[in-house]
Amino acid sequence: MSKLNIVLFGPPGAGKGTQSEFLIRKYGLIHLSTGDLLRAEIKAESPLGLQAKEQMDAGQLVPDEVVIGMIRNKMEANLEAKGFIFDGFPRTRAQAIALDEMLAEKSEPITVMLALEVPEAELVKRLLNRGATSGRSDDQDETVIRNRIREYEQKTAPLKEYYSAQGKFKALDGVGSVEEITTRLMEAVG
Ligand code: ADP
Repeated sequence: MSKLNIVLFGPPGAGKGTQSEFLIRKYGLIHLSTGDLLRAEIKAESPLGLQAKEQMDAGQLVPDEVVIGMIRNKMEANLEAKGFIFDGFPRTRAQAIALDEMLAEKSEPITVMLALEVPEAELVKRLLNRGATSGRSDDQDETVIRNRIREYEQKTAPLKEYYSAQGKFKALDGVGSVEEITTRLMEAVG
């Protein structure tokens, strides 16, 4: 049976992490979140984590080779998976190309890119709220939040065209209740 490989896409605060939880349960997928993997490295005080922390605290992307290496390791550790949900990756064209190459080696291409669309004012509101409860330092400072949104617009949003060209791009309204958005995602997976 072919695998279900989903890229869950959208700006910071779009709800990718929240919706991933449901999708992994429903379809039995492995969740690969580069943000979570990086925060685990920071917590472990590894050299990689120490290096990434500075960029993350400033709201900038960490270097492509760092996140590509992390994703490669996790995919290789989960060869029997029914599929993957990529959350927060790819975020640049170089990452998207690397991902396609990794998947091509195993003949298991991306099935679909699901893009959650949320207006900027709503994103900032959600992230500041999350910062107040989660303790994530990059969610507590509005300047850092706006930097992340700019990084998204400049480097990440163009990937919509990359996946459109492959006939895999699906946009969804990311405003509404968690359940409403879950339903939209399920319908989009088909
Ligand atoms: P959010 O989507 O809310 O910004 P994430 O947890 O996905 O949260 O990412 C937090 C930070 O981790 C980003 O601002 C960035 O510095 C870094 N990061 C995560 N994924 C990537 C990636 N694929 N490429 C580069 N940097 C990344």
